[in-house]
Amino acid sequence: MNGAGRVYDFWLVCTRCGTSHPALPLYQCRACGGSLEVAYDYERIFSRLPFDRMSARTASGIWKYRELLPVFPGTDPVTLGEGGTPLLPSWRMGSTEGGFQLYLKNESANPTLAFKDRSLSVALTAARQFGMTEVVCASTGNTGVAAAAYAARAGLRCTVYIPATTPPEKLEAMKAYGARLEMVSGSFSDAYATSADEALRLGAFNLTSTYLNPHAVEGNKTLAYEIFTSLQAVPDWIVIPVGAGPLLSGCYKGFREMLLAGVIDQLPRMVGVQASGCAPILQAFEEGRQEVRPWGGSTATLASGIADPLSTYPEDGTRTLAVIRESGGVAIGVSDLDMHHCRRMLAEREGILAELSSVTAVAAVKALYDSGAIRAGELVTAVVTGHGIKDMTAAINFEKTGVE
Ligand SMILES: [Zn+2]
Repeated sequence: MNGAGRVYDFWLVCTRCGTSHPALPLYQCRACGGSLEVAYDYERIFSRLPFDRMSARTASGIWKYRELLPVFPGTDPVTLGEGGTPLLPSWRMGSTEGGFQLYLKNESANPTLAFKDRSLSVALTAARQFGMTEVVCASTGNTGVAAAAYAARAGLRCTVYIPATTPPEKLEAMKAYGARLEMVSGSFSDAYATSADEALRLGAFNLTSTYLNPHAVEGNKTLAYEIFTSLQAVPDWIVIPVGAGPLLSGCYKGFREMLLAGVIDQLPRMVGVQASGCAPILQAFEEGRQEVRPWGGSTATLASGIADPLSTYPEDGTRTLAVIRESGGVAIGVSDLDMHHCRRMLAEREGILAELSSVTAVAAVKALYDSGAIRAGELVTAVVTGHGIKDMTAAINFEKTGVE
């Protein structure tokens, strides 16, 4: 069975009350308003095509796994060659110094230089299959750039709602791809609310990369497939920078699917890394709460990509926190000063120039090893989520403040 009246191998299910919905452009459960997730008839999918055969396909990137993405048969993917990014051993920071094996999943090798290309490729493909002509999103930068690029590729109109803190490099890229930009006063959460209102008004597909669009979130799973396929092993720890955290929970879902497929026999512990200056998920983790509350103070960090106070959708943080706890992982915070040091070290010692938000994962690995959480001999993967070239102004401003 793949659910009442369903003609495809996937559908939407409410994460709060479990009600099923057909695969439509929905953002909330019609019964209770809860957030939605894509569910699959895995038995049917894997009986037709085992996971190993998907991995072995010659198609590059995320579309090797199209049966595990919410795409109708026959729909052409909107693709720029996303996914298939390198998983690089870190010689200087892992095996020789710490006695653990560290691999860096370099997502800055994606077409718009950030991991968001995975979810935006899926989201624009979904937009096209639903017959949408217009897309909108709220963004702190990387989502907007990816949305603009993939909308251009799909031939759809794109409007991005951005807070004033968005790095200028990312604004220029969005403009270059032909997106319409709307500046919103306040934080990312304010841009989120405006984009939701405008999506309704315009009848546009909302691509905001929190948990809002269940189709977009699915692209993140492909990170897990690639990490396992590269290593032929499940890391003991996977360390990911988080704002709302759909990359972390998407990645964990990918590992759970491989467990269901009988490809792996254990799951990784997930580490969610936040900027200390804006860390609602970390705060709930440290206080032992199940529910994340909105971040009360200002967003005191230059790590704009993960500076999400979750003001109007703290339940997104609660979803991420639940995954961290379920996996036996931890939430951890990194200061802007540590990010700055780590950014330089990653560039000078590993040849990887990452944006501030991204280096939090690497800084967290060091902190977890120093605290004894990561032990000698363990296998660790840190996800470098975006390229430093898109965030140079933050680095320059940080040096100007004289903190260094
Ligand atoms: Zn519901």
